Parts: sequence; C-alpha cells; structure tokens
Amino acid sequence: MDALERCSQREGGSDAKRPRRKWRINNLIGKVVPLILLTYIVAAYKLVVIEHGYKDRYKTRGQVLSVLLHLLPAHLIFLLALRAYLHIYLSHSSSSSSSAHFLTRLLGARRPALPKYPPSDWRNRIFECDAAGRPSRCWRDACNGNWKPPRTRHCGDCGTCRAGLDHHCPWFDADVQIPLTSPSFLHFLILVPLLYLFALFPMFGIAWRHTRLIWIWACDVDNVQSREWWANKWTWMGGPVWRWVGGWIVASRSYTATSAQITSSHSKLVAIPNWTMPLVVTSGAGLVFIALALLFSSLSSLMQGQTTIDMERRKAYSRHVRSVERKRTTSSGDSAGVRGREDDSLAAPHSGAMPDTDEETLRRLSPILYFWVPLALIDEEKSTNDYDADQLDHHIDAQHVSVQEGGIVLPTLLQERPYDLGDAWSNLKLALGMSKASDEDEQWTLDALVEARLKATAARILHKSR
Ligand SMILES: [Zn+2]
Ligand SMILES: [Zn+2]
Repeated sequence: MDALERCSQREGGSDAKRPRRKWRINNLIGKVVPLILLTYIVAAYKLVVIEHGYKDRYKTRGQVLSVLLHLLPAHLIFLLALRAYLHIYLSHSSSSSSSAHFLTRLLGARRPALPKYPPSDWRNRIFECDAAGRPSRCWRDACNGNWKPPRTRHCGDCGTCRAGLDHHCPWFDADVQIPLTSPSFLHFLILVPLLYLFALFPMFGIAWRHTRLIWIWACDVDNVQSREWWANKWTWMGGPVWRWVGGWIVASRSYTATSAQITSSHSKLVAIPNWTMPLVVTSGAGLVFIALALLFSSLSSLMQGQTTIDMERRKAYSRHVRSVERKRTTSSGDSAGVRGREDDSLAAPHSGAMPDTDEETLRRLSPILYFWVPLALIDEEKSTNDYDADQLDHHIDAQHVSVQEGGIVLPTLLQERPYDLGDAWSNLKLALGMSKASDEDEQWTLDALVEARLKATAARILHKSR
C-alpha cells in the first residue's frame, strides 16, 4: 500500500489550501535589510580599515604593529561572521549563478529535501500524527499533501515546509532551522557584538571627540546657520531630541576645520570632525542592540526546547483564550468564568456558543500535539506504576482520545513540551548542532516524561476498556 494512502485525507482548517498572498511584508523586509547591512559594512570597512587603519595610523603615524594587532583579529571575526551569515542567506538560494553554487557548496549551505512520505513502520512507534491518528500532511502552497514530519512547519514567506523551523528571519531573507542553520544563527548573533567591539573600539574616542567639537560649534555665537536653527521655533516640531540632533546635523555641515587639523592626518575623515564617525558608531550600536535582543530571545526559547514560533504561538494562544473568555463573560454577564480560569490560562475555553472564527483560531494556535501510541508498546503494569489513576482518568475524560486498531491516539497536555529534552544544556546542544536532533526518519527525541505519561494514559485506557 502506498504510504500516503495511510496518511490523512485532505482536511480543512489551517493546512487547507489557501491562495498564497503575492505581497508579504517579510519578503520586502528580507530584501531591504540585507542591503542596509551591506551598506553599513562597506561604510564601516572604509572608515576602520582605509581611513583610520591605513591613512591615519599607518601613513600618518607609522604605527605598523598596533594597526596589525587591531585589524588582524577584526578581520578574523569579520570573516567568521560573514561565513555564518552566508551559510543562512544562501541556504534557500535559488540563484543559478555558478559563484552562488560554489559558495553554497563550500559553506555546506544546501539542505536536504523533506521526505514526502512517512516511514512505512510508523505504526510500530510512538509517532506524532493528526487528531485522527494519521500522519500529518501539508496542503499549503506547493506542498501538495506531502507528509509533514514532527517539528516541521510551513513557512508562509517561503511557501514551503521546513524541518525544525524556528522562524523566518528577514535579516537573512531565509529560515532559521534547528539544527540546520540555528548554529550559524547563534554564532552570527554572538559575533556581531564582538566584531563591533573589536573593529570599532579605536573609533569610540574619535567619534566622541567629533560629536563634542561639532556640538560646541553648534552652540557657537559665530555660527550663523546654527543661530537660525535655534531661533526657529518650528524646530521644536519633532520634539526636543530632534531639535538637538537637527542642530547638531546643521552644525556638522558647516563645521570649518582649521588648516592645522587638515594637515595633521592623511585622513580628513579622522582629522576633521564630521558626521561619518559618530553615525557609524551609533548605528553599529543599534545593530548590536538588535543582535543581542535576538540572541537572548532565541536562547530563552531554544533552552526550553521550544522554537521561536512555538513560544510566540503559545503566547498568542493564551491571549486568544483570554479574549474569548472575556467576550463570553461580557455577553452572558457571568464573571465567574474568568475568575475560575486564572490558574490555567492556557486551557481552551469549552466550546459551545463559541463563534467559528474563534474556534478555528484556537485550533490553529493550539500547542497540543497528537501522538499515536501502538498497543504493542504498552506494558499495563509497568506503565501505570508511577501514576495516580484518578489523574490519568481526568486526562482521559478531559481530552479527545481515540482508540483505534493497533494503537491509541493521545493529545499532549497544555503544559507539556514533548520535544523539550528536560535541561537547558541538552536543548542548547541540539540547537548548536552539537547533538543529533532527529533520526533518518525525521523523528525527534521525545521528552522521556511525556513519553512515559503517554504510555501510562494509553495503559489506563486499555485497563478501563476491559
Ligand atoms: Zn521562510
Ligand atoms: Zn507545507
């Protein structure tokens, strides 16, 4: 029998075929952000290497050793960061140019295609499936009903399913996937602040001096343009920050250097106060801030065994649950509903008078996964030993379980994270590519506690059915 015939039939809901939006904001940002990064790198490289390193310190001052000590490690970090960046950027490259092909091969950025069918023996193992107990399939965009292995998500921006999808990142115009590109992603985010510190460290003092001298010039009574700026009350229109920054920009354009300053260095950009050095230093600080924010948010979800999307969906789900409850409370005038649910904000509201759109959204955002538990793996005595029968019965009564030939389909509990390996370091090792994430059949290691709980619940169901 064809493996796909054992899969689910085409279903409605979030995986149902929807026309793909032609214009997506992430695709646009993904084209703009790499260009901004490239522009910044060219500007910073010119300033650090040519103006400051070569013209000012080498040609003017003859400092060979200190220039080498600054530029060699800076270049090393730059190349490592560039390698990490290209490894992600090229991973979805559809470019047919030979140089892109060469780079993609060199960096090992090509990724294997997802298998279209589940392994033929999936019924013999604990296997993530849909609510009906069949291997999940994806019908969106070009996926065409292919099998959707565990921890695979459809990226709407790329129009295809990705294994271990963490998120679609506009910085790279590509997907961050565990464990394919997540190591490069984390390396890049760590290297950006290091590169900033190493490469721009000698610029900090100069940038500060330029900023200060221009500011003094901005406040100078002889500076006609600045006098006009400060006298004009319309310059308050953008708020006090804009008034000061604008005053500074006006002064920087009219800053007149003395001839002594010009001849002191081969580099005018270093010797004469101007806006370039302060702009490169402050915008670099902005990029470092974004990189650090991304690094900490990624680490916090990855160390909990969750992807960024998992984390965001959980938050969105609990927000939606609360909003549905609020709507219901206001319409029925019953305030007990909300109070009674505070202990378990992730729990789905009971359907009833819930509008279809709410139910569909809750279903789409729900962090609950379904697992096929084969009867052959259940040892009734051993499985239920550590569990309280009442607790298991409570799970069975409260959830949609289905007993089928050869196995039982069980949902996870709301607080369970089946692919969380239990400790932060094991989860991080997996995201850093230091341990194997999935086997050759795209099966990920299940949390031992979740696996034991699933087996115990299945054993209890078997016991009760006798
Ligand atoms: Zn994508
Ligand atoms: Zn898909």
